Amino acid sequence: VAQSMNFEDKIAGSARAHEQARQVIPGGVTANIKHFAPHPIVMDHASGSRLTDVDGNNYIDYLLSYGAMILGHGHERVKEAVYEQIDQCGSFVFGTPHHLEYKMAQKLVDIFPSMDQVRFTNSGLEATLLAIRLAQAYNDKPKIAKFEGHYHGGYDQVLVSVNPNMDDAGEHAEPNSVAESSGMSEQDLDQTVILPFNDLKATEAILRQRQDEISAVILEPVQSGFIPADETFMKGLRDITEELGIVLIFDEVKTGFRLTLGGAQHLYDIEPDLTALGKVLGGGFPVGALGGRYDIMQLMSPERGGDILTSGGQQVTDRALFHSGTYNGHPTVLAAGLATIDYLEEPGVMSELLRKTEKLRHGLENVYHQHGLSMQTVGLGTIFNIILTKDVVRDYRSLTTVDMETRKQIDYELLDLGIYTKPGNRYSMSTAHTDEDIEKTIEAHYIAINRVLN
Ligand code: PLP
Repeated sequence: VAQSMNFEDKIAGSARAHEQARQVIPGGVTANIKHFAPHPIVMDHASGSRLTDVDGNNYIDYLLSYGAMILGHGHERVKEAVYEQIDQCGSFVFGTPHHLEYKMAQKLVDIFPSMDQVRFTNSGLEATLLAIRLAQAYNDKPKIAKFEGHYHGGYDQVLVSVNPNMDDAGEHAEPNSVAESSGMSEQDLDQTVILPFNDLKATEAILRQRQDEISAVILEPVQSGFIPADETFMKGLRDITEELGIVLIFDEVKTGFRLTLGGAQHLYDIEPDLTALGKVLGGGFPVGALGGRYDIMQLMSPERGGDILTSGGQQVTDRALFHSGTYNGHPTVLAAGLATIDYLEEPGVMSELLRKTEKLRHGLENVYHQHGLSMQTVGLGTIFNIILTKDVVRDYRSLTTVDMETRKQIDYELLDLGIYTKPGNRYSMSTAHTDEDIEKTIEAHYIAINRVLN
């Protein structure tokens, strides 16, 4: 790692804090993804586009809590909405219905034409899990299909072939199901069929061959938030799933409100059967939502009877699909999310954010090319990644050959220069990033690349 001694000294407080945390938290991190060597940087506070660590170092933030903070940190409008909600309701949560649930559900139904109804969860993971359970109840078939390299949360059914070793991954046109974690069972792997992203012919062949087993296909329309599906692939996937009666689930946890307000489905003009949302929807608080077709969503209505709390002495003929959660539809979360979406809906806000993202992408491409590096920015909307290759990037396998080592070395230098991305991670933009931030970021890349190459 090309880190200067100077930088290690600058983040000595992070090293100490991490060492303390390691004693009581495995690896010192509450999510494995937060870890990087030699130790993560421990943040203290943030404002707008800036993070400040425990040593007082400032960073322009492109992680933005994995894309969630689309208005930057501590946006006044979101803060006001949260404070006002707590003041007005006099509590934090009731465990009963309340008006913000309806307000947000109506907002989502208005933004996403594919949604007739909505349920809220506390995370993106819970939203995709609910989608899969609904699809399995709807179609009554034992398996689901997902794409190699796509992430839908950390549970056994989908923690398959997200980042597989190529030695285990099998043929491109017929990928193996590979476990991403110890502790998973053969049965989990057997229940999840893996498809090759952006390869319609191979995907169609697998789906036709296994149509009697597969209830649902789930995908990130833009893999990892930055590798877009081809338009013909998306349209073909919609057609084939419709023909075979397979439920099509869009996981728009990253792309919702970030490619366009209406997510990838708006951009591609395709209506999935179910859509999972998260991240931006909570305005910085824990959230998820599932929206979709009336006939599928209705499967979880307790009005169908059979719900454990409402069935009483009645005879249960058609048990409702179970969905519950103490904090589902939390008022504070929904207030923050509504304030965020309201702001994004204001004229010019999304277009200005898209303009700034394009400006940063072009500036960065120029800098890398000036240094003779083969580099492309790959992405759509307000998310992109820096990929060090000339080759076309269109799926998980095309990423396995890119030069990650140089990329990570540059990222470590960038930390020293006050640019925060988790080494190797994609860039997300916020409305708080200024043109000056962008210019500073481009200049920092220039210096970082020089340091690594010389
Ligand atoms: N789906 C996608 C596409 C995601 O990017 C993520 C999180 O990064 C999830 C699901 C899981 O969301 P959460 O971390 O809120 O559980």
